[in-house]
Order: sequence, then C-alpha cells, then structure tokens
Amino acid sequence: MTHPKFVSVDGEIVPYETATVHFLSPAAKYGSSVFEGIRGYWNEDKNEYFVFRLREHVCRLRESMKIMRFSEDYDEDYLCRVVLDTIRANNIKADSHIRLSALLSGEGLYDVGGPVSLMCAALPSPSKSLEEKTLSVGVSSWRRIHDSAIPPRVKCGANYQNSRLGLMDVKAGGYDKVLFLTPVGNVAEGAGECIFIVRGGCLVTPSVTSGILESITRETILEIARQDLSLPVAEREMDRTEIYVAEEAFFAGTMAEICPVTSLDGIAVGSGAAGTVTSDLWSWLESLCRGTVDSRAEWRTPVYG
Ligand code: PMP
Repeated sequence: MTHPKFVSVDGEIVPYETATVHFLSPAAKYGSSVFEGIRGYWNEDKNEYFVFRLREHVCRLRESMKIMRFSEDYDEDYLCRVVLDTIRANNIKADSHIRLSALLSGEGLYDVGGPVSLMCAALPSPSKSLEEKTLSVGVSSWRRIHDSAIPPRVKCGANYQNSRLGLMDVKAGGYDKVLFLTPVGNVAEGAGECIFIVRGGCLVTPSVTSGILESITRETILEIARQDLSLPVAEREMDRTEIYVAEEAFFAGTMAEICPVTSLDGIAVGSGAAGTVTSDLWSWLESLCRGTVDSRAEWRTPVYG
C-alpha cells in the first residue's frame, strides 16, 4: 500500500512512520477507537481540492466519542483544521480518502476514557465508474450488531469485527459484498455501506433505527432525491425479499460512493445492471462532491483557495 509522507498526530504534522500506537493500548487491545472516513475530490478546472461534508463528519466523530464515553471533546473547527492541515502537508491534488481517528492510546482496561490520541491520514483513492462498481451481494447468517449491545450508530473500530465476519462469510460463498439483517430479520446495511432500493418508483432505505450507521452519504442522497430529482422517498423497515423484486438496488457510502447491487443471494435485481435512478443519483452526487456544479457550496470545503 502506498502511504502518505506525513500524517497528523494530536494536531502536529509528523512523518508517517512515527505515528504508532502501543499494542497494550485499549485501541489495540479492544478496538477502542472511533473514526471517520472522509473523501476529498480534485477539481482540475478549478485547480482546487474539495473535502465533502467535512463538518458533518467531524460532528459525527464527536457523537461517536460521546456515545463511547471518551474523556476528550474536540472543538469542531479544530477537527476541520486537522483534516485540512493533513491534506496540505502532503500537497494532495487527487481524489483521496481521509481517515480521522480518535484512539484510546494510553494504558488500562475496557473502562478507561482517555488519554485520547487524534490521528489523521489521507490516501489516494481514485473514483470509479458505476459499471466498474457493480456488486453481487449475499446476506450473511451473521446478524447486524444492535444498539442495545454495541451501537452501529457510532463508527467504533470494534464494530467492524461484525462487518469483517459477515464479509468473510459471504466472500467464501463467492459474493462481492455482504448485506446484514437486524436480529429480527429486517434489512440493516452492508459492512461499510448503507442500502437503497427503488420499488414502484419510490426510493426506499432502512430507517436510522434499523441497526445502521447514520450515513452522511445516505442523508445526502435522500436530499438530492427529494429536492433535485423530485423522487418519492421512504425511510422505513425493509424486508430482504423486497430487494429481490426491486427495480434497482445500490450500496452507498463515503468510500463506496454509489455501487449498483445487481444481484442479491444470486437473484438478479431489476435488469441485473445499474438502473436509471442509480445512475442519475450518482451523476448528481459526483458533481456535488467534485464541485463541477455550484449548488450546495456549503457541502464542499476548499483546501487550497
Ligand atoms: N454503514 C457503515 C457500517 C459504514 O462503515 C459506512 C461508511 N462510513 C456507511 C454505512 C456509510 O456512511 P457514510 O456515508 O457516512 O460514509
């Protein structure tokens, strides 16, 4: 893996190699870390790099820290500055994925709340076309974690052990990606993506109380669908079999962007290719992320201008 020259540790730009965490830290021992995956897009015409929905990401990081009882609370402006400084230090001028993590980096057992280390890195991550991102998805027999045990609402490192088990399970069965059901059997989300379907022309996604991360891409897509595409939209419980008979289905997330789900459990979804609503949403989303349109400028933080 190519790695950046510099990363940020507690607000200081340091060489990549020096940003380490001890194996006895709660972060390493128990997965006591919370993080954000953020994307930045290079706009060639404007000679500018835009971070997409930076403030929403740092707000969610603070929420994750609060729910997981971390002792620190960072100022939003400070967290935004850490991300921007990291990008500038590496002079990044290409589409990339930014990781902002708060880790319990000291000593102790499960019940410590600090000390907290804040680390940030940006890695190149070229955006792909929809056709390159179609997915065959399988439901795993592993169920999604529940708010009453380990909340999926937070981006805690430990939560991704659930994602990992499900993903490895369905990959062993030949699928590309996993879809999780809640403990009672409703559709929740993917390992690192939320799910949408189009049924009877309505865009449907599980509600925020369906065992999902409160995805920023999900909220963005719902807003584009309602306001720009005038699509009927529903946030509600979803059954697995609704996906089999949907016109379209796709996964969405910061890393995934939009990935058409062309089959579930080996059953073709719709035409078995990316659908028109999926394609329309992706072209809106991409132009907003990259800043090739002027609308919703508040969603894009320019880094160099
Ligand atoms: N669900 C899970 C479990 C995720 O890890 C992610 C990626 N952050 C998402 C959904 C999508 O969230 P977002 O759009 O905020 O990246």
